[in-house]
Amino acid sequence: MPFNSFEELNNYLSKEKKKLVDVIFEVESNLQGSTPDETLLKAAEYWRIMKASVKKGVKSKELSLLKLTGKDAAKINRLVKKSPLFDNIYGRATAYAVAVNEVNAKCGVIVACPTAGSCGILPGVLQAYSEIEKPDRKKILESILVSGFLGMILFNDVTTAGADYGCQAEVGVGAAMAAAALTYLEDGSSEEIIQAFILAIKNSLGLICDPVAGLVEVPCVKRNGIFASVAISASLMALSGVKSFISPDEVVLTMKEVGDKLHHDFKETAGGGLAKTRDGKAVDRAFESEVKRFFGDN
Ligand code: SF4
Repeated sequence: MPFNSFEELNNYLSKEKKKLVDVIFEVESNLQGSTPDETLLKAAEYWRIMKASVKKGVKSKELSLLKLTGKDAAKINRLVKKSPLFDNIYGRATAYAVAVNEVNAKCGVIVACPTAGSCGILPGVLQAYSEIEKPDRKKILESILVSGFLGMILFNDVTTAGADYGCQAEVGVGAAMAAAALTYLEDGSSEEIIQAFILAIKNSLGLICDPVAGLVEVPCVKRNGIFASVAISASLMALSGVKSFISPDEVVLTMKEVGDKLHHDFKETAGGGLAKTRDGKAVDRAFESEVKRFFGDN
């Protein structure tokens, strides 16, 4: 790639007078040897899985193995459908993001975007948007490419793992990717797309990874629902012309600094935070006895 940072990307776009989506096709062609049509086909497969996981999640009446999650998406969706106040992109995206993460908690098929723990936000926002605005299918596919592309630039400096940088690197980045996709769908400029992405990152800094019993359920599932709103608000701000005071690349470096300084108890070890509350520890014990029952004491 002729750029490794958001500043370099911006400079490249203005110097070459190219659109972001065309640059993405160029990069894909260089990295994978694929034509734009082949790249779109891949995105189409992701979109198919995303939509299927939303549909499955909102209908599901089952709980996960330890009964920690499940059925909440259906509850939220029921209220959204009958409430003029909540039947909008925020309400629908919240229900759908929870739906996809519940599917993940029950070992269903999802698209990790960027991870399984944060798999709900992008499909949640895209499904809500496509129901309300009915965009051209190609534009939805392009928005998926835009979201992944900005994630790829971010991961020049950090990894996508809660185990390395806490939940800011999973749910925070998931929200940023969804914010970028939504801004693209709303015809935002390249700068606005980057701003939406970075506003979501900036406001997720410090988010810890503290999954109860080490399972990707509590707090992950509801967190996806809540951060769908973060994505939409970041996009709304960027499209309004609001900009991050701190430059995008410095926000990413700050995320790295915060992640590096996070205590290991808050990096997917289930050693602190919600995982070590009274209720969290009770699940830990229940999980251990389930494992013993299944595998025996050895
Ligand atoms: S809390 Fe940890 S496991 Fe759950 S989504 Fe966040 S980073 Fe992933």
